[in-house]
Amino acid sequence: MGKRQQVQFQNIADKLYNPADKAVIKSLEFLVQDREFRVNFEEENLSTKKRRLQSMVRALNISSISRDGYRHIAALEPQLLHEHAVSDERQKINADMACAIPINLIDLEPNVQLDPSEGPDITDLEIIEQMVKVIGKGAHRSVKKLLTYVVPAYIQKGNYKTMVKGIGKGAHHSRKITYLCRALQKGKLDPLSPIIHLRISGDGRNVGRKVKHVMITVAFLDDSAELFKSHSHYTTVLFPGTEDYTTLRVAADAFIQELQELEKDGLFIDGVWWKFDLYFSSDWKFLAICLSFNAANSNHFCPWCTISKNQRGQRIEWTISKSINILNLNPIAYPGHNLPPLFGMIPLTNYVPDKLHIMLRITDRLWELALQEIKNEDLFNDITRNIIIKEMKKLKIRFEFWKIRDNGLWDYTSLMGDDKLRVLRYFDLSVLFASERATLIRRL
Ligand SMILES: [Zn+2]
Repeated sequence: MGKRQQVQFQNIADKLYNPADKAVIKSLEFLVQDREFRVNFEEENLSTKKRRLQSMVRALNISSISRDGYRHIAALEPQLLHEHAVSDERQKINADMACAIPINLIDLEPNVQLDPSEGPDITDLEIIEQMVKVIGKGAHRSVKKLLTYVVPAYIQKGNYKTMVKGIGKGAHHSRKITYLCRALQKGKLDPLSPIIHLRISGDGRNVGRKVKHVMITVAFLDDSAELFKSHSHYTTVLFPGTEDYTTLRVAADAFIQELQELEKDGLFIDGVWWKFDLYFSSDWKFLAICLSFNAANSNHFCPWCTISKNQRGQRIEWTISKSINILNLNPIAYPGHNLPPLFGMIPLTNYVPDKLHIMLRITDRLWELALQEIKNEDLFNDITRNIIIKEMKKLKIRFEFWKIRDNGLWDYTSLMGDDKLRVLRYFDLSVLFASERATLIRRL
């Protein structure tokens, strides 16, 4: 039917149009008993089609649309790419990636202990079920292979060419060009000063109430504009299990070895020897675990110096006095340290705890103390609670108090990001405290 229609169209078109106008039929759509048919007469350019398929795979992946979901949508909209073509393309991409950056499995002790005080971060039953199934299995991707694959995308090739051309015209000129190109690249990787500032991070999150999901990632500090977006963080180690030193040492074994090599030898990618400046950044808990060091509330609590709890108020100057090399040689060289640091190739000056988490914990504590002060005055009653709720309402924050059945204590809504910031900035403490006291607390 399509072929006949095409011939017929051409016959008519030849009469109506000038041959130079090249009238062609592109497609034919028709219904048979309410079933839609569509015939495409154009042979789609192969590379265009591939690009369309890849973009579709990406779009479906980013928006978590399942194969079934896409099949339903494609059935409604016949112009969309066929589901099987899309999933074939996805498999091809997966196969290519399995070649470029293979995922290796690691056997782990299937011990899972969750802190009962922590609520779940993920509650999707399907994900929880899948995670429980793979307890005892970890996954690892080579950071060297990852870098080899990813680094070229961080170099702006156009600028690089201009830069190389400019070098022929004398040193003074080339300096200028280097400067110009650095400015253009906005902090991305520059093959003329081949140093990569690589950030190692890790954290665990609770999947349901049974499993913890621990992840170690790397990111380029050089790409600072994109650093806080999740797509800039590349996973190297992933496992269901406990966020503890022993498990991490087994799970991250190959990763740690590669980091040592990167630090010592660098890495050759596309004709450039890259050197590495390694950083470690995570929340305080994960940082202390990786250093095999005491928790933040211990007597010796500081990862960077040997100060103890009761000396906190005496110190004016805070300097980084411990050295990772000394810890590598003698893991108990300083009080509070137990086993060799996991990432002994990173100097202590490059260990940076996540400021956001610290700020969140501090503000939680300050808010708790403010409420405690009211309780101490025996004024923590319905009237006061309503004043707080009303003030929160003014700031457009949903806030509630409720009584815990077991112990009769009052609990309250824990504030998240923006809400917390608004309370810090605008909550009028003078509705609760005498004005002098309110000013003091606000300053704190
Ligand atoms: Zn210190």
